Amino acid sequence: MSAVTESGVVDAVTKELFIGGKWTPATSGATFPVHDPATGAVLCEVADASASDGMAALDAAVSAQAEWAAHPPRERGEILRRAYDALLARQEELALLMTLEMGKPLAESRGEVAYAAEFFRWFAEEAVRIDGGYAVAPNGSGRFLVTKQPVGPSLLITPWNFPMAMGTRKIGPAVAAGCTMVVKPAEQTPLSMLALARILADAGLPDGVLNVVTTSDAGGVMEPLIRDGRARKLSFTGSTAVGRLLLEQCADKVLRTSMELGGNAPFVVFADADLDAAVDGATVAKLRNAGQSCVAANRFLVHDSVAREFARRLADRFAGLRVGRGDVAGVDVGPLIDAKAVAKVAELVDDATDRGAQVLTGGGRPDGPGTFFEPTVLAGVDRDARAVREEIFGPVAPVVGFADDDEAFALANDTEYGLAAYAYTTSLDRALRVGAELDAGMIGINRGMVSDASAPFGGMKQSGLGREGGEAGLEEFLETVYVAL
Ligand code: NAP
Repeated sequence: MSAVTESGVVDAVTKELFIGGKWTPATSGATFPVHDPATGAVLCEVADASASDGMAALDAAVSAQAEWAAHPPRERGEILRRAYDALLARQEELALLMTLEMGKPLAESRGEVAYAAEFFRWFAEEAVRIDGGYAVAPNGSGRFLVTKQPVGPSLLITPWNFPMAMGTRKIGPAVAAGCTMVVKPAEQTPLSMLALARILADAGLPDGVLNVVTTSDAGGVMEPLIRDGRARKLSFTGSTAVGRLLLEQCADKVLRTSMELGGNAPFVVFADADLDAAVDGATVAKLRNAGQSCVAANRFLVHDSVAREFARRLADRFAGLRVGRGDVAGVDVGPLIDAKAVAKVAELVDDATDRGAQVLTGGGRPDGPGTFFEPTVLAGVDRDARAVREEIFGPVAPVVGFADDDEAFALANDTEYGLAAYAYTTSLDRALRVGAELDAGMIGINRGMVSDASAPFGGMKQSGLGREGGEAGLEEFLETVYVAL
């Protein structure tokens, strides 16, 4: 990419399938449109793969697997390291591309490119640390040699909300482990992944290791690949509903699975919390990506003695934020991904107010084009309101009171999800108890963000299986082999 202009960054992306190291149109010649959610305008058309294109991508991944598994780990790491450098060198262009197809403000897109790159840096370093073990059998009768080998060709499916980081979080460990892959990005945000494929190819990734299929028929293209039997792993990030369906499909050939699914994160504010810090953390945890994040604070559980004051301060903060197209200077909150998302968020607000909640700020759509929703704070929300029970995926903060710690923990855990949780307290004892009591894979204490490429990211209960990032993220792409001597 060269010019950092809207048309320049879109034009620079090759909008074809990437199979066996070659860019190719869909065999049918079909394409589908990519929209700018801030205006509804069509940005470009992208190749629309069919099931046979998907199968060609799997063929390429299978053909490249043996050679790639034998590729020196140092070289695998160096490819990732070069891609890391390239991502940062092109941060500005990639950020604009992401903002155009997804909507998030440019500052957040820059942050995502840096976060995405970190996965490549981390796994570049991990590639040369894949080790095993050696032991004497307890009864002295023999020796055990334990080795690690790549799982094999992997299928990677990513969502639209973090179109680059959800890719690098899977591609990084797959490359480090020596797995080849077929990647299917979300229909709404294929451009970031196509740009990433180009960067990896330029960084020296051999042909066939990474194959990208863009399609408007996710199920029709991916199900045959899952059921084929040659792919040995599925790594999926998306909704719990689709994750459940894919787990059923994977059962057929017993694929290894990593499932990063939905969340309903509680944000607990205890009576002893620093309220200003809690409002800062709540704003980040709620409004990053306009609330469209699996780790977004979904429910604000606040001690009765400070609930009114917290809600008031949060509403003041939200009311001062600027909503608009992500590339406009000074914009804090971008659009939601589409009209369906706006309708769902509006429904949840209506449901809460029907049950007696008060709207302290926001509550509706601003005038004008695009799929925007105002940052909204709801006070006095019923515990059974849909905004409390369901993943909102929008800029709406429902505040619910609680009387004591036990009630806070019970409310926080009263969900089928278990991805992230946040708590604000100045008591170390209470912070440690939060860590022990909450059923969540990731817990932020006095901070509104938990993601880090070097930490294990993932959830319990219906938020998923397995972890991404950190050492655990690499294990997901490795098989353990034990040789008895
Ligand atoms: P989604 O509808 O489940 O889609 C995710 C991906 O799955 C997309 O690429 C989608 O393709 C694909 N897909 C949909 N149906 C499929 C099928 N039958 N077979 C194969 N692939 C299929 O989720 P989303 O709306 O994009 O993302 C939002 C959800 O992701 C939220 O629930 C959020 O919490 C979750 N999420 C979780 C994490 C995490 O790390 N735990 C991170 C980010 C997001 P199309 O786009 O082409 O339909």
